[in-house]
Amino acid sequence: MKKILVTGGAGFIGSHLCERLLNEGNEVVCLDNYFTGSKQNIIHLLNNPYFELVRHDVTMPFFIEVDQIYNLACPASPIHYQHNAIKTIKTSVLGAINMLGLAKRIHATILQASTSEVYGDPEIHPQPESYWGHVNPIGVRSCYDEGKRCAESLFVNYNKQNGVKTKIIRIFNTYGPRMHPNDGRVVSNFIVQALQNKDLTIYGDGSQTRSFQYVDDLVEAMYLVMNTGDDFTGPVNTGNPGEFTILELAEKVIKMTKSSSKLVNLPLPQDDPIQRKPDITLARKKLGWEPKISLDEGLEKTISYFRNQLGK
Ligand code: NAD
Ligand code: UDP
Repeated sequence: MKKILVTGGAGFIGSHLCERLLNEGNEVVCLDNYFTGSKQNIIHLLNNPYFELVRHDVTMPFFIEVDQIYNLACPASPIHYQHNAIKTIKTSVLGAINMLGLAKRIHATILQASTSEVYGDPEIHPQPESYWGHVNPIGVRSCYDEGKRCAESLFVNYNKQNGVKTKIIRIFNTYGPRMHPNDGRVVSNFIVQALQNKDLTIYGDGSQTRSFQYVDDLVEAMYLVMNTGDDFTGPVNTGNPGEFTILELAEKVIKMTKSSSKLVNLPLPQDDPIQRKPDITLARKKLGWEPKISLDEGLEKTISYFRNQLGK
């Protein structure tokens, strides 16, 4: 049994990760400031004697003794991370410094939840880990993108300079149950709109593409990265290489929910990437991992979650 700290554990991905780590027989400490997460996401774990919940902000130092740290604390949706851009940067950068300092003192292995956003609006398609990215450092997304890029640099340097056992995973768009219904991300927006027979909001002409990964596939990849030898530090991409236009996604959601919703076009947000698709060669080779859940299968599960939530 390992003792494991999950920062951002009451969020969408963190709650699934906590569940998985407990199922593997570990003791889990979930740390969260509840900015975008909620107790509701982990309420089913609260009776488990091996689960502990701590209200804390990662921008402040935290002291504990654990074997592993998964650093997920950071708002992930554009609406939320742009709400207080400076706080987002502090969460990524000070959060990484505090958690790396902790890992250094207690000799824990630490994994950073990085993002495909480090590639910005990519000029190379699909994106391999070797691509340096195309990020606007002063644009509306920079608080998130540059914060995560700085965190990656901190992880690499704590590893090189101080011998901390670090891991970086670059997560591509992930969806599933417990996404926040109002966080503005495309999968939750479309499902919620479709279930309410409201217009589906297509930003731009809907020709931009994304690759959608179901949350269980991601959690499996995170688990494998953490538990693969210390010499495997990443960064490693995790995502589903299936690529869809936003228009295709909208049509799929309308069909699967049997909704009478129509499509409406709204302006494309600033610096919205035109295309995004992971190259997962490295994850296949090093971890023997690839996503197992198709978009249709994952959407079914997510639609049924939101049906319950909305009483539809
Ligand atoms: P989320 O917003 O649901 O979860 C983030 C969690 O971090 C929330 O519970 C929030 O309350 C907590 N948090 C935020 N700031 C904090 C702070 N200062 N101190 C302590 N806790 C704080 O988002 P998610 O989708 O679950 O994302 C989890 C991680 O994965 C994030 O680091 C995100 O950048 C990364 N990621 C997610 C995606 C995706 O598609 N969901 C893609 C790439 C990377
Ligand atoms: N998008 C959209 N309608 C929505 C929400 C998002 O067309 O209601 C688009 C958005 O402009 C982007 C894509 O869907 O091109 C994915 O957006 P999301 O916020 O989910 O993730 P990210 O842009 O961070 O990949």
